[in-house]
Amino acid sequence: MDMQRRTFLGLAGAVGAGGLVKGLFGVGLGPTEAYAHTARPIRGKITTSVCPFCSVGCGLLISAAGGKVVGLSGDPDHPINEASLCSKGAAVSQIANSDQRATKVLYRAPGASEWEEKDWDWALPRIAQRMKKTRDATFQQRDASGRTMNRTLSVASLGGSAMDNEECYLLSKAARAMGMVYLEHHARL
Ligand code: SF4
Repeated sequence: MDMQRRTFLGLAGAVGAGGLVKGLFGVGLGPTEAYAHTARPIRGKITTSVCPFCSVGCGLLISAAGGKVVGLSGDPDHPINEASLCSKGAAVSQIANSDQRATKVLYRAPGASEWEEKDWDWALPRIAQRMKKTRDATFQQRDASGRTMNRTLSVASLGGSAMDNEECYLLSKAARAMGMVYLEHHARL
């Protein structure tokens, strides 16, 4: 098609760029609804969950048997995704069914090269003691001008996208109560 730039701009101004492109090339620029449905068979006991991959937070329906995920689908009642899942969410059972999934506490002592298996009764008090020790040793009450800070820059909180609003609220409250100012979330990194 032989068209001068001036003619093109004049036409675009008259009918709108989107309409012009559609008229000339048969391609619409209007908003398009896109859905990526998963329709996998779900059977047995069904549990709801949240996709852990990104901050969209799509709802899942999961059925399991023998310690493995055997059925997975987007949750049609979930207000965010209404049954849709992208390719990552549709493959989320690979995490649960992977042989490489960490299911136990692993501890590597300072200077050691090997990991040791521990249980949660051993790990949780230890984590709490170390957090308190670090927080107390690095707590800054005031800056050089005497202004109140009440913070530590040595402990941070990293949330996950499988957490719901209420869990995020509680975690951020607990972190700020300890003086943390670095609060992040893995889906934002
Ligand atoms: S990765 Fe995909 S399925 Fe998972 S929350 Fe994000 S958009 Fe939803």
